[in-house]
Amino acid sequence: METKLLHQGEEKLAAEILAAGGLVALPTETVYGLGADGLNEEAIKKIFIAKGRPADNPLILHIAEPQDILDLVLTLPPKASTLIDEFWPGPLTVILPKTKTVPSAVSADLPNVAVRCPANESIRLVIKYLKRPIAAPSANISGKPSPTKVSHVLQDLNGKIDAILDGGDCELGLESTVVSFVSKAPCILRPGSITKEQMEDLVGDIAVDPAVLGRIKQGQKALSPGMKYTHYAPRAKVVVVKADKETYIDFVNKNSSENILSLCFEEDKARINGKSISYGKEKDTTSQANLFFDALRKIDNLPEIELVYARCPYMQGVGLAVYNRLIRAAGFEVIEL
Ligand code: AMP
Ligand code: MG
Repeated sequence: METKLLHQGEEKLAAEILAAGGLVALPTETVYGLGADGLNEEAIKKIFIAKGRPADNPLILHIAEPQDILDLVLTLPPKASTLIDEFWPGPLTVILPKTKTVPSAVSADLPNVAVRCPANESIRLVIKYLKRPIAAPSANISGKPSPTKVSHVLQDLNGKIDAILDGGDCELGLESTVVSFVSKAPCILRPGSITKEQMEDLVGDIAVDPAVLGRIKQGQKALSPGMKYTHYAPRAKVVVVKADKETYIDFVNKNSSENILSLCFEEDKARINGKSISYGKEKDTTSQANLFFDALRKIDNLPEIELVYARCPYMQGVGLAVYNRLIRAAGFEVIEL
């Protein structure tokens, strides 16, 4: 299959391909999504095949206007409504009991559905032309770093999908914050650019699923099936180094070799003797979020690298979301110094 490259202004054509049951990678403010008609079971199945995604990992439905959620969910609790009013359109996904409109392929047979109204105007226009929600997981091969640039989507999916709509580089660079309203208290299943602190200011305490910061234990049920898989992993082995700046730099300089790379912050680079790639500035978690997946993909372009020592981000605010992706890229291997 030839993958067509579409440009801004060709949203109607993108919607036509989707209406015919095709797959189109679409820009969003978080990462590129691999879109299909969210109500077409056959089209949705193609997403799982193209990505190699396990069938038990459900998809997010993307809508053009906040009120369109009402067709997809059975109830909208007041706290969910408050967060939607504040953060939509934007990088927040809510999970709620689903209506019969939602195909079981979207929700992987769960009784709940994940819904988001993205801020990116280009994907919203495609949804408006399609007149149906778009099911879209990240547009990468399952397990690989999520795509924040058209070149990342092409690396993984060229020849496997009908088209890519070029919307430039993604503004935020990490996937949406996912909050479940299925139990009594709201619970974060995946941290993102909208932080726990921002949401708690509006609705009070929000729980954090244990899978956000650690490995799910054998036999324990994953509330967000996506969290049970090792994820975002480059080919080389990654180890997270929890240490202050000086201790980290000292450690990587003592352990340097041809096959080892430091995944560090911009300010560290000049002081590291061996190979290094930076992901953002030390005190700027937003820049870390923005550059993290691209940095992981750059590591894959260095075939000699076998081991990566990653500097640990500050785990507050957006930093928590960066850490959540980093420990999955590292298969949960952490050294504390
Ligand atoms: P992606 O679209 O690739 O960013 O992945 C979507 C994430 O949301 C995955 O981690 C899914 O497991 C999670 N998710 C989607 N739908 C549901 C649902 N109904 N219940 C729980 N988690 C969900
Ligand atoms: Mg994904």
